[in-house]
Amino acid sequence: MRWSITIGRIAGTAVKIHITFILFLAWIAFSAWNRGGAAAALDSTLFIVLLFACVVLHEFGHIAAARRYGIKTPEVTLLPIGGVASLQRLPSEPAQELVVALAGPAVNLVIGLALIAALGSAHFGDLERIDDPKLSLLGRLAIANVFLVVFNLIPAFPMDGGRVLHALLAMRVGAARATEIAARIGQALAFGLGFLGLFGNPLLLFIAIFVYIAAGAEGQMSAAQQALKGVSAGEAMETRFTKLAIDDNLAHAVDALLATAQNEFPVVDAFGKPAGLVTREDILTAVRQHGGEEPASNFMRSGVQSVRPATPVESLFERLQDPKATALYVTDADGKIVGLLTRQGLGEVMMIRAARPDWRFDRKA
Ligand SMILES: [Zn+2]
Repeated sequence: MRWSITIGRIAGTAVKIHITFILFLAWIAFSAWNRGGAAAALDSTLFIVLLFACVVLHEFGHIAAARRYGIKTPEVTLLPIGGVASLQRLPSEPAQELVVALAGPAVNLVIGLALIAALGSAHFGDLERIDDPKLSLLGRLAIANVFLVVFNLIPAFPMDGGRVLHALLAMRVGAARATEIAARIGQALAFGLGFLGLFGNPLLLFIAIFVYIAAGAEGQMSAAQQALKGVSAGEAMETRFTKLAIDDNLAHAVDALLATAQNEFPVVDAFGKPAGLVTREDILTAVRQHGGEEPASNFMRSGVQSVRPATPVESLFERLQDPKATALYVTDADGKIVGLLTRQGLGEVMMIRAARPDWRFDRKA
């Protein structure tokens, strides 16, 4: 996510703070200072740090649940309305999606209930005065955790409730239709929140704008998948591209770079099977430190996935959104490379579909 600062790394996940979260913290500290001076500001800051820890634990609830299904989480971003864990992929099974979505709020529910049990009581009317240092710190933290549970279960993206809604819908109408419906419900809810926000609470208005944008982004993702519907990898792939042989040197790679507008150069073995991929950046980085006689294969990335020409690109769209996955190999039955599927290629398919929705891509693979 843009406008985020990395503050640390826990179990392979980068923890980032979004700039709006910092503004939100500053606003709370500032209003406490205005009300009660330095002592109040200090108390509020401590409260914020503890609350921040609860939000991190919430996110690690999602991350731990996702890990159970073999999904890694490269980063988590903290926003004023909670956090967003960027899972490597979404769980494909709606039941798994439901468990992952609920695991975050469940953490806050446990923290909130544990604090209430320890304190013996909680006054939910105090939510209005959550920044009032006259209330006990742990009491406020208990209320804040319950608030996090309720707030995150609002059925709109990017709140967890949006995922819960999506999972429940997907069980009935399938994933694609569920995304459309959930995005629409999310935007309608954002309008509702914004309307309420106009009558007093500016924070609600701010949240509404945020939800509206996030729900729209989900809808766009869904529209992109819609535009790619029915198109196979064999139809969307690039077929005219320059390959590098496994024993080609860096000078050869530079020649290829200059001669083409290509971004990704597959390195193939003697049988025409892909051994790795060298990108434009990889070549530029390599020439900084190495001579032309160095084998180009020393700089290739491995782990690029192969797909068959018949694979629907709709299912590959998400995989190509990963910043590290710049391309996919399209290979025939013998494992020989026959094409290259790139983000740019998918973008072109979408543009043609936008211009002519009925266009048929019946190319021979
Ligand atoms: Zn969450």
